[in-house]
Amino acid sequence: MQHAFSCVPGHHLRVPAQVFEQIGGLLCISMRRCLASRREGCVGGRRNGRYDLAGHGSRQRPAQQKEREPALTAGSRSVRRRWRGARCLLGAIRRVEAFHIDWGRGRSAWVRVWDDAGRSGLGEASPMAGGDAALTIVAGPCAAALLGADPLDHAVIHDRLFHRLAKLGPDGAFAAALAAIDIALWDLKGQTLGQPIYKLLGGAWRTELPFYASVGGNAGRGPDEVCRAVERWLALSPALVKIRLDADRTRRDQDLEGDAERIRAVRRLLGDGFPLAFDANNNYSVQGAIRIGRLLEDLGCAWFEEPVQHYHLDAFEKVASALDIPVAAGEQEYTLQGVRRLIDAGVAIVQPDIVKTGGFTGMVRMAALTGAYGVDLVPHQTQPAVGHTANLHFVAALAHAHHPCEWNDPSRTQDAVFRDPVRPHDGRFRLNDLPGLGLQVDEGALQARLRPWPGGNTAAR
Ligand code: CA
Repeated sequence: MQHAFSCVPGHHLRVPAQVFEQIGGLLCISMRRCLASRREGCVGGRRNGRYDLAGHGSRQRPAQQKEREPALTAGSRSVRRRWRGARCLLGAIRRVEAFHIDWGRGRSAWVRVWDDAGRSGLGEASPMAGGDAALTIVAGPCAAALLGADPLDHAVIHDRLFHRLAKLGPDGAFAAALAAIDIALWDLKGQTLGQPIYKLLGGAWRTELPFYASVGGNAGRGPDEVCRAVERWLALSPALVKIRLDADRTRRDQDLEGDAERIRAVRRLLGDGFPLAFDANNNYSVQGAIRIGRLLEDLGCAWFEEPVQHYHLDAFEKVASALDIPVAAGEQEYTLQGVRRLIDAGVAIVQPDIVKTGGFTGMVRMAALTGAYGVDLVPHQTQPAVGHTANLHFVAALAHAHHPCEWNDPSRTQDAVFRDPVRPHDGRFRLNDLPGLGLQVDEGALQARLRPWPGGNTAAR
């Protein structure tokens, strides 16, 4: 079966039914625009001036999910009828699921949003304390507000929930809940429109993305042990190595000499030219940070991450003003305003996280903010499955991506629920061109690991 459509009166393109189904959502959008501007014949069938979307009128939306139609001119009843039929391709939110995935060691907090056409999108929340608080917020006040909404209204949904429930946040679990919902809605949007998310973000500057090895847990290791950990990563061809201390952040400056030795040892291992960064995980005083920072400059390091407590903006300012090396921070900021304050304090690389900071909707705004200030956006990301893939899509569409993407878990544990997870080859992740996140769920494997969150399955009646 074939369908005909045209954007120019008198010129028709015939396409197979399957392709027509895939582009149906895009036609719906074009049609609305055409109706608004009264340009007859923009989307039509066999005759100039007729809107012909044959085949779609047979699908009916559930009666309870009424929606607004575009403003139509008098005498356009047939157009309105056809618009109703075409619009149903976009679907409304029918079910919201909040659950854990049990990996055996550790768990992830995921959200799945279904529309009434049977499509679904996956999202992930920040995993702090298992993501329990974020799942509670999704399953409670958010889910009820989502049912019946148009998933393409993700930015309106995000901002409406943000303001309606502002006193739950604006940071932490509340922000993580909104992020998980937004990622799921973008995945669903991709499924609906038949496009990968990077395409919906405006197109990819790159679909092959180098990564940096985020090597954690080094505070308790000697220099040789740190080097052994780095060597295991080098087999995967990272574009940069970052050493994280992950020390007790209530005991600052506890081993400055030891930290200096660890960094020098890794520099010797990698050689002078290899990109190296250092993450203090908020473990230094201003004086300690400046001392380590000068060593990092001597060793040619790429950036100095979270040298002081994340809430001490004045301390960031003192450290950044004393050093030439770029100071990085932002994984513990959840709002545009918070990141702007970091930039004002002299932070040159900001690191918001897509599973904490508004999902794609929030990160797009972060990109605009950092672009306006001329600082680098290098997202934080330590969730190896959904969050990681979402981050890759975002960076693919980011114009100024001057550094590789973070990756901290080369185990394949979280691949278990996907048929074709994104894996690196020759030091690069390659995004496919499948719709949404491009993750193909193995439903059997997912259900085997799924642990429902109490009250976390909310559906329209
Ligand atoms: Ca960090």
